[in-house]
Amino acid sequence: MLEQLKEACGVFGAQDFKNRSVFPYLYWGLRGQNHRGHQSHGFLTYDGTFHSHKGLDLVPKIRKEEIQEWLKKLPGPVGLGHVRYTTSGGTDYQSLVKSTQPIIEKYGDQKIAIAFNGNIVNTPEIIKEIREEYPNFRFNYDAELISRKLLRLGKKGNLASSVKRCMKEIEGAFSVAGMTEKGELFAFKDPRGIRPLCCGCSRDRKTCVVSSETVGLDINDFQLDFEINPGELVTASKDGFNREQLVNGEKRALCAFEFAYFARPDSKLGDKYVYEVREEFGRNFAWEYPETTSKVDIIISMPETGNDSAFGFHELTRIRWERASRRHRYVAERAFILLPEERYSTIDRKINIVDHKLVGKNVAVVDDSIVRGDTTKVVVKKLREMGAKKVYLFITFPRIIGPCFYGVDMSTYRELIGSRYDPEEIAEIVGADAVNYQSVEGLVKATGLSKDELCLGCITGKYPTPMAQRLAEEMKERFENGYKEKGRIYETAIN
Ligand code: SF4
Repeated sequence: MLEQLKEACGVFGAQDFKNRSVFPYLYWGLRGQNHRGHQSHGFLTYDGTFHSHKGLDLVPKIRKEEIQEWLKKLPGPVGLGHVRYTTSGGTDYQSLVKSTQPIIEKYGDQKIAIAFNGNIVNTPEIIKEIREEYPNFRFNYDAELISRKLLRLGKKGNLASSVKRCMKEIEGAFSVAGMTEKGELFAFKDPRGIRPLCCGCSRDRKTCVVSSETVGLDINDFQLDFEINPGELVTASKDGFNREQLVNGEKRALCAFEFAYFARPDSKLGDKYVYEVREEFGRNFAWEYPETTSKVDIIISMPETGNDSAFGFHELTRIRWERASRRHRYVAERAFILLPEERYSTIDRKINIVDHKLVGKNVAVVDDSIVRGDTTKVVVKKLREMGAKKVYLFITFPRIIGPCFYGVDMSTYRELIGSRYDPEEIAEIVGADAVNYQSVEGLVKATGLSKDELCLGCITGKYPTPMAQRLAEEMKERFENGYKEKGRIYETAIN
């Protein structure tokens, strides 16, 4: 997708039971997951005291001569890492620096450190509760709410009982990796398991790690032990992981958008590699749209999230998949616009399309999603200028009709082209000959999970948590009555 839609974050945590430095694992665990957030990065290690490094932008490259300096700066056999894209709190420079994770929270003489992926829905309620004890508390970002709550509850009990209270009282998505003040690694997931988080060990089983995605393990040559269950708390020990199921009975609701866009194709979600699921998405196009498919001369994909689906589409139909679009490998940042007329050249800063392959052809363009539609319009215009006869869009993620409350920056109905128009109208607006979305049923089947195990909120209007459902309905009603949305209503209330 070229719209630069953002995931909330990626987390990584490690504890070594032979007292070796974990910084190299944290570093590579985050480098492997930088696609989950590139506004800021942070490391926190512990060797009796906490040591931290925080910075904006991508996880930096470390030159050979700098390695010892980094190891000295971040010593210790336990640590956390985090990459972030902001979905809560301010986005100005100062706020970004301030809210970079992992964070350490203090309460009296207690401390806790966490790295968090997700988004809290009942934010005002939690803020109110914290302010009963700290009247001057100023909300900056969601991670602060979880850590404050953990500490506040921790004074009355142990870690498991405070995590359990958090799971019961906080609504939303939270996959958390943390460290106690004694340097013990723990991790837990909200009762629906909306964001991924897995555990694994080194081959000698003396280093335990937790990672948002399995690629964080692969890059370190660690073995995957298990995906943390919704409502489960995991702690690391010299004998491996201790698992405690703290909350039962809620339906699992893994974010379906992870499969289509966020997760790396070589990560595993459920029992499948994401790239295999995406290939199936591509095959579904042929089954769901036989008539348009019969008119297609060539398939191209919007790299890289469209590649695997384009391959699946090609494999089943034998229509040539023309690798005519290539991403500029080292351009990861937002393609900023200086002049209005440059709007149409921003696409060139990210991908290069080889024009002679398109001339006179009916082109199927495989992409993962359409959110606002602006970039899609630019792409279609460009393909036509390059000589494409027909442009059919095949979109793997079904039409997005509502906002996300769980950590993806789609916060209003107004910004979503799919909430206002049907596929025929969208095709007209973006200038395509057809917009063919994969069906919700096709997507669900391809994941290997059941409808009841996925969050499909933004594509069905049925959200897995009660407050999100209520807010979505309220926001929809206001939107349909002409109210100008400025954000999710609970956030505009805070700000
Ligand atoms: S609402 Fe959509 S993007 Fe948000 S968690 Fe659910 S499926 Fe994912």
